[in-house]
Amino acid sequence: MPKKNILIVEDEQAIRDMVKFSFFNTKFVLSEAEDVKQARIKISSKTPDLILLDWMLPDTDGVDFARELREEKNTCKIPIIMLTAKSEENDKIRGLNAGVDDYVVKPFSTKELIARIKAVIRRSTNMEEEEKVIKIGALKLNRESHRVSCSGKKVALGPLEYKLLSHFMTHPDKVYSRSRLLDKVWGGDIYIEERTVDVHIRRLRKILKEFDQDFLIQTIRGSGYRFSIEE
Ligand code: CA
Repeated sequence: MPKKNILIVEDEQAIRDMVKFSFFNTKFVLSEAEDVKQARIKISSKTPDLILLDWMLPDTDGVDFARELREEKNTCKIPIIMLTAKSEENDKIRGLNAGVDDYVVKPFSTKELIARIKAVIRRSTNMEEEEKVIKIGALKLNRESHRVSCSGKKVALGPLEYKLLSHFMTHPDKVYSRSRLLDKVWGGDIYIEERTVDVHIRRLRKILKEFDQDFLIQTIRGSGYRFSIEE
């Protein structure tokens, strides 16, 4: 397994050294930044697998930087562990609201730190896997390869039917009106008649019927459509 690249953003060199030393003989490699400015440079040259982020930094508040990372498309998925001397409940909530994954309160043991890093990485990799493949009933949809199968057999779909099914499978058990579906699947900026939705729903149902899965797409009279395993 390739080594995981961990970025530490911390102005105290003693802490950076301690973490670096503790990574010896682990599958983690440490890169270092002493402030947010350096961190930005490091992140843009190589996306880290996880960031250890100090709360009190010379140039920017760590929590503000965490929020900034969460808002950026390229960095929003990088797990963040806050290193903090603060253990007050309010501070913790502030950090969690900024999208931080976990906390380590200073002074911490490197053993504890490594355990937390492993747990956060495990959690985020599982989430990615889960997001990639969605299974509902006998249907399996791979959002990366855009392949759909049913009990192992390939389901051939047109591009719009795929998008429609993908939307349904990522939002099961919710009723969508035709105009909401147009907005979500076709995109809001072009004008398309609502009955176009019915045409594509019919096509999708026909394909799913070959696999006895057409029951998943349910017509809700007067409201729209719902994708659900429950009949
Ligand atoms: Ca500090």
